Amino acid sequence: MSRGTLIDKIWDAHVVSRDGDSDLLYVDLHLIHEASSPQAFDGLRLAGRPVRRPDLTLAVEDHNVPTDSLLVRDELGRAQMQALRDNCAEHGIEHLRHGADRQGIVHVVAPELGLVQPGMTVVCGDSHTSTHGALGAVAFGVGTSDVEHVLATQTLSLPRPRTMAVDVQGRLPAGVTAKDLVLALIAEIGANGAAGHVIEYRGPAVEELSMEGRLTVCNMSIEAGARAGLIAPDETAFEYLKDRPCAPAGDAWDAALEHWRTLRSDPDAEFDRTARLDLAGLTPYVTWGTHPGQAVPLGGRVPDPASFADPVARTAAERAQEYMRLTPGTALRDVEVDVVFLGSCTNGRIEDLRAAAQILRGRRVRDGVRMLVVPGSMQVRAVAEAEGLHEVFQAAGAQWRLSGCSMCMGINSDRLQRAERVASTSNRNYEGRQGTAVRTHLVSPQVAAATAVAGRLAAPGDL
Ligand code: SF4
Repeated sequence: MSRGTLIDKIWDAHVVSRDGDSDLLYVDLHLIHEASSPQAFDGLRLAGRPVRRPDLTLAVEDHNVPTDSLLVRDELGRAQMQALRDNCAEHGIEHLRHGADRQGIVHVVAPELGLVQPGMTVVCGDSHTSTHGALGAVAFGVGTSDVEHVLATQTLSLPRPRTMAVDVQGRLPAGVTAKDLVLALIAEIGANGAAGHVIEYRGPAVEELSMEGRLTVCNMSIEAGARAGLIAPDETAFEYLKDRPCAPAGDAWDAALEHWRTLRSDPDAEFDRTARLDLAGLTPYVTWGTHPGQAVPLGGRVPDPASFADPVARTAAERAQEYMRLTPGTALRDVEVDVVFLGSCTNGRIEDLRAAAQILRGRRVRDGVRMLVVPGSMQVRAVAEAEGLHEVFQAAGAQWRLSGCSMCMGINSDRLQRAERVASTSNRNYEGRQGTAVRTHLVSPQVAAATAVAGRLAAPGDL
């Protein structure tokens, strides 16, 4: 049982009642999207219940939206989007539709609006809700029946999570990113290394991360099996939130700030588990397998499954390499790709696009390689266009898209062809995630851009 952690403090402040091992938790913000909400609304309708707090609920179309057009050709996607529109109209819920100025991936849009604030509880019917922990909130994904429960009651019954501190020592070396940090962490602790826990990331390297880097790290917490990930709010978070459309203003801002500054784990806080990551010598990371923990430095080689002492890990490596059509000992830098995808709720923010554009400026995407650049939100897209980044991408031969989940899950026209190999800035590389037999290598935006130019996995320094 942990004690004095920020996770405990936020949790305790939201407990409505306790029943055995479960706490009834008040939810400050409920995010919904078209793919996981239709059944929840149907359930509500059957029970004859209204939405309890439409004012604390935001709906965003993201999973099914095509990013090359406002026309939704996919029948199921169109039906889900229409259902969301109808449900939001019926229940008075604010709704950001495909093509709207503020639309985007729900995990990009909510922080961008200033809706997610330190000390909050946030839920969404989507596993990467952990993203929002970057602002010092306890934020986690829930199932469809939970979505219905939250819509009806603004609460959720949950077992108290275990807590885990991840101490990140040292500083990020030049050219190494938050994505590399989190891939290295998952490779170290394993894809189930944080199962059942909420992680608090700490240490000087975490404090030095930009807000966008923090969002990337917390986004991928779930890939280590964690329920959520969180970073104590500090000046970086406050600066990010200030003047955002839904952030408090005036006296309310001052009062909020006073409260937010208290949101820290006690110096003698006890976590259920701790882990440590040393950044000394860290270089860009890339996955070679079919879960994010199967990753090595870009300068490394595909490992020999026989080198894994654990028989389960050995079998998983054999199977992953068969799927990925990779042989042990192959240098990652020799792996050629067909497609590069820059986007998703992990790395579709303006900082990511700026970093990639800097590498692509004056260069060309290699012949035969397709590159999609998909901003995480229409706001990100607008800022990128104001800075001329779209021209850099287009001049390099990349496709410049509308915002949405896109190739992260391979829908609409944002699909890969059967068995293509992709360098992707998204967060999941399991079998078939981005299309039938598609082989995914998870990378940072910088590695994605360099790979697009080189036609094989590469770092900017290789160009
Ligand atoms: S971008 Fe990918 S991981 Fe993120 S919410 Fe969309 S489908 Fe899920």
